[in-house]
Amino acid sequence: MRIIITGTPGTGKTRISRLLAKRMRLPLVEIKEFVDDNHIFRMEKGEKTVDVNRLRGKLLPHLAGLARAGGYVVEGHLACEMRLPADFVFVLRTHPKKLRQRLAPRHYGRKKLDENLEAEMLDYCVQRVESVYGIRPLELDTTERTAPVSAQIMLKAVKAKKKKLDAPDYSSELESFLGLRP
Ligand code: ADP
Ligand code: MN
Repeated sequence: MRIIITGTPGTGKTRISRLLAKRMRLPLVEIKEFVDDNHIFRMEKGEKTVDVNRLRGKLLPHLAGLARAGGYVVEGHLACEMRLPADFVFVLRTHPKKLRQRLAPRHYGRKKLDENLEAEMLDYCVQRVESVYGIRPLELDTTERTAPVSAQIMLKAVKAKKKKLDAPDYSSELESFLGLRP
Protein backbone atom coordinates (compact mmCIF):
# COMPACT_ATOMS: atom_id res chain seq x y z
CA MET A 1 0.00 0.00 0.00
CA ARG A 2 1.55 3.28 -1.17
CA ILE A 3 -0.10 6.47 0.04
CA ILE A 4 0.85 10.04 -0.81
CA ILE A 5 -0.46 12.96 1.24
CA THR A 6 0.08 16.44 -0.11
CA GLY A 7 -1.47 19.91 0.14
CA THR A 8 -0.71 23.51 1.00
CA PRO A 9 1.35 24.07 4.18
CA GLY A 10 -0.94 24.21 7.21
CA THR A 11 -3.63 21.86 5.89
CA GLY A 12 -2.63 19.19 8.42
CA LYS A 13 -0.41 16.81 6.45
CA THR A 14 2.18 16.10 9.13
CA ARG A 15 -0.24 15.64 11.96
CA ILE A 16 -2.76 13.56 10.04
CA SER A 17 -0.19 11.41 8.21
CA ARG A 18 1.41 10.44 11.54
CA LEU A 19 -1.96 9.18 12.75
CA LEU A 20 -2.75 7.41 9.47
CA ALA A 21 0.65 5.72 9.18
CA LYS A 22 0.37 4.46 12.75
CA ARG A 23 -3.13 3.09 12.22
CA MET A 24 -2.09 1.41 8.96
CA ARG A 25 1.19 0.19 10.44
CA LEU A 26 3.09 1.71 7.54
CA PRO A 27 6.37 3.63 7.68
CA LEU A 28 5.98 7.39 7.25
CA VAL A 29 8.30 9.44 5.09
CA GLU A 30 8.08 13.13 5.94
CA ILE A 31 9.60 14.89 2.95
CA LYS A 32 10.73 17.85 5.05
CA GLU A 33 12.73 15.50 7.27
CA PHE A 34 14.08 13.51 4.31
CA VAL A 35 15.30 16.73 2.67
CA ASP A 36 17.13 17.80 5.83
CA ASP A 37 18.63 14.37 6.59
CA ASN A 38 19.95 14.03 3.03
CA HIS A 39 20.94 17.69 2.61
CA ILE A 40 18.89 18.05 -0.57
CA PHE A 41 18.58 21.82 -0.29
CA ARG A 42 20.48 25.03 -0.67
CA MET A 43 19.88 28.30 1.09
CA GLU A 44 18.61 31.17 -1.00
CA LYS A 45 17.72 34.50 0.68
CA GLY A 46 17.31 32.70 3.98
CA GLU A 47 14.89 30.18 2.44
CA LYS A 48 15.52 26.50 1.81
CA THR A 49 15.36 25.75 -1.90
CA VAL A 50 14.87 22.12 -2.90
CA ASP A 51 15.88 20.67 -6.25
CA VAL A 52 12.85 18.47 -6.85
CA ASN A 53 14.59 16.25 -9.42
CA ARG A 54 17.41 15.54 -7.01
CA LEU A 55 14.92 14.91 -4.24
CA ARG A 56 12.97 12.47 -6.40
CA GLY A 57 16.20 10.71 -7.40
CA LYS A 58 17.04 10.07 -3.73
CA LEU A 59 13.48 9.32 -2.69
CA LEU A 60 12.63 6.70 -5.34
CA PRO A 61 15.15 4.03 -4.24
CA HIS A 62 14.19 4.60 -0.62
CA LEU A 63 10.49 4.18 -1.45
CA ALA A 64 11.23 1.10 -3.56
CA GLY A 65 12.78 -0.54 -0.50
CA LEU A 66 9.79 0.38 1.67
CA ALA A 67 7.36 -0.86 -1.01
CA ARG A 68 9.06 -4.27 -1.03
CA ALA A 69 8.53 -4.41 2.73
CA GLY A 70 4.81 -3.58 2.45
CA GLY A 71 4.35 0.05 1.53
CA TYR A 72 4.59 3.60 2.86
CA VAL A 73 2.93 6.87 3.61
CA VAL A 74 4.70 9.93 2.16
CA GLU A 75 3.72 13.42 3.22
CA GLY A 76 4.83 16.81 2.00
CA HIS A 77 3.69 19.69 -0.18
CA LEU A 78 6.52 18.83 -2.61
CA ALA A 79 4.92 15.43 -3.25
CA CYS A 80 2.62 17.14 -5.75
CA GLU A 81 5.61 18.33 -7.79
CA MET A 82 7.10 14.90 -8.54
CA ARG A 83 5.55 11.64 -9.59
CA LEU A 84 6.00 9.06 -6.87
CA PRO A 85 4.67 5.49 -7.04
CA ALA A 86 1.22 5.65 -5.45
CA ASP A 87 -1.98 3.70 -4.93
CA PHE A 88 -3.70 6.69 -3.35
CA VAL A 89 -2.94 10.40 -3.57
CA PHE A 90 -4.68 12.63 -1.04
CA VAL A 91 -4.74 16.41 -1.15
CA LEU A 92 -5.69 17.98 2.18
CA ARG A 93 -7.71 21.17 1.88
CA THR A 94 -8.47 23.97 4.34
CA HIS A 95 -10.63 27.07 4.06
CA PRO A 96 -8.31 30.09 3.65
CA LYS A 97 -9.66 31.78 6.77
CA LYS A 98 -8.80 28.73 8.86
CA LEU A 99 -5.54 28.22 7.00
CA ARG A 100 -4.47 31.74 7.93
CA GLN A 101 -5.07 30.88 11.60
CA ARG A 102 -3.15 27.61 11.32
CA LEU A 103 -0.19 29.34 9.67
CA ALA A 104 -0.07 32.24 12.16
CA PRO A 105 2.33 30.50 14.59
CA ARG A 106 4.80 30.02 11.72
CA HIS A 107 5.26 33.79 11.41
CA TYR A 108 5.57 33.73 7.63
CA GLY A 109 6.17 37.11 5.97
CA ARG A 110 3.21 38.76 4.22
CA LYS A 111 4.35 37.59 0.79
CA LYS A 112 4.85 33.96 1.76
CA LEU A 113 1.57 33.87 3.68
CA ASP A 114 -0.36 35.36 0.74
CA GLU A 115 1.30 32.93 -1.69
CA ASN A 116 0.20 29.97 0.39
CA LEU A 117 -3.37 31.24 0.82
CA GLU A 118 -3.59 31.95 -2.92
CA ALA A 119 -2.24 28.49 -3.75
CA GLU A 120 -4.97 26.95 -1.59
CA MET A 121 -7.73 29.08 -3.16
CA LEU A 122 -6.41 28.22 -6.67
CA ASP A 123 -6.50 24.44 -5.99
CA TYR A 124 -2.79 24.51 -6.81
CA CYS A 125 -1.87 21.10 -5.33
CA VAL A 126 -4.91 19.39 -6.86
CA GLN A 127 -4.01 20.69 -10.29
CA ARG A 128 -0.37 19.71 -9.86
CA VAL A 129 -1.34 16.16 -8.94
CA GLU A 130 -3.61 16.00 -11.97
CA SER A 131 -0.85 17.07 -14.30
CA VAL A 132 2.14 15.38 -12.62
CA TYR A 133 0.50 12.07 -11.65
CA GLY A 134 -2.18 12.06 -14.35
CA ILE A 135 -4.88 11.15 -11.83
CA ARG A 136 -7.52 12.92 -9.77
CA PRO A 137 -6.49 13.02 -6.13
CA LEU A 138 -8.82 12.39 -3.20
CA GLU A 139 -9.45 15.79 -1.63
CA LEU A 140 -10.15 15.91 2.09
CA ASP A 141 -11.39 19.08 3.76
CA THR A 142 -9.73 19.39 7.19
CA THR A 143 -11.26 22.79 8.02
CA GLU A 144 -13.84 21.57 10.53
CA ARG A 145 -12.44 18.13 11.27
CA THR A 146 -10.04 17.07 13.96
CA ALA A 147 -6.88 15.28 12.84
CA PRO A 148 -8.05 11.86 14.17
CA VAL A 149 -11.37 12.22 12.31
CA SER A 150 -9.53 13.13 9.11
CA ALA A 151 -7.21 10.13 9.49
CA GLN A 152 -10.22 7.88 10.08
CA ILE A 153 -11.92 9.11 6.90
CA MET A 154 -8.74 8.48 4.92
CA LEU A 155 -8.41 4.98 6.34
CA LYS A 156 -11.99 4.18 5.31
CA ALA A 157 -11.43 5.72 1.86
CA VAL A 158 -8.44 3.45 1.30
CA LYS A 159 -10.31 0.35 2.45
CA ALA A 160 -13.30 1.20 0.26
CA LYS A 161 -11.02 2.22 -2.66
CA LYS A 162 -12.88 5.52 -2.88
CA LYS A 163 -12.40 7.66 -5.95
CA LYS A 164 -13.84 10.86 -4.51
CA LEU A 165 -14.15 12.56 -1.12
CA ASP A 166 -14.65 16.34 -0.85
CA ALA A 167 -14.69 19.01 -3.54
CA PRO A 168 -14.02 22.34 -1.86
CA ASP A 169 -14.28 25.47 -4.00
CA TYR A 170 -12.59 28.63 -2.77
CA SER A 171 -13.00 30.63 -5.98
CA SER A 172 -15.33 33.21 -4.39
CA GLU A 173 -12.85 33.62 -1.50
CA LEU A 174 -10.11 34.12 -4.09
CA GLU A 175 -12.12 36.81 -5.88
CA SER A 176 -12.72 38.84 -2.75
CA PHE A 177 -9.12 38.30 -1.65
CA LEU A 178 -7.81 39.67 -4.94
CA GLY A 179 -10.39 42.48 -5.00
CA LEU A 180 -9.33 43.60 -1.53
CA ARG A 181 -5.68 43.88 -2.38
CA PRO A 182 -4.19 47.38 -2.77
P1 ADP B 1 1.18 20.66 7.39
O1 ADP B 1 2.09 19.52 7.67
O2 ADP B 1 0.22 20.40 6.27
O3 ADP B 1 1.89 21.97 7.21
P2 ADP B 1 0.45 20.41 10.18
O4 ADP B 1 0.16 18.97 10.36
O5 ADP B 1 1.78 20.89 10.64
O6 ADP B 1 0.21 20.85 8.66
O7 ADP B 1 -0.75 21.19 10.87
C1 ADP B 1 -0.77 22.60 10.86
C2 ADP B 1 -1.33 23.09 12.18
O8 ADP B 1 -2.74 22.91 12.20
C3 ADP B 1 -0.76 22.32 13.36
O9 ADP B 1 -0.55 23.24 14.40
C4 ADP B 1 -1.91 21.39 13.70
O10 ADP B 1 -1.85 20.98 15.02
C5 ADP B 1 -3.10 22.29 13.42
N1 ADP B 1 -4.41 21.68 13.26
C6 ADP B 1 -5.53 22.13 13.86
N2 ADP B 1 -6.59 21.43 13.50
C7 ADP B 1 -6.18 20.50 12.65
C8 ADP B 1 -6.87 19.46 11.95
N3 ADP B 1 -8.17 19.30 12.01
N4 ADP B 1 -6.14 18.68 11.15
C9 ADP B 1 -4.83 18.88 11.06
N5 ADP B 1 -4.14 19.83 11.69
C10 ADP B 1 -4.81 20.65 12.50
MN1 MN C 1 4.20 19.48 7.62
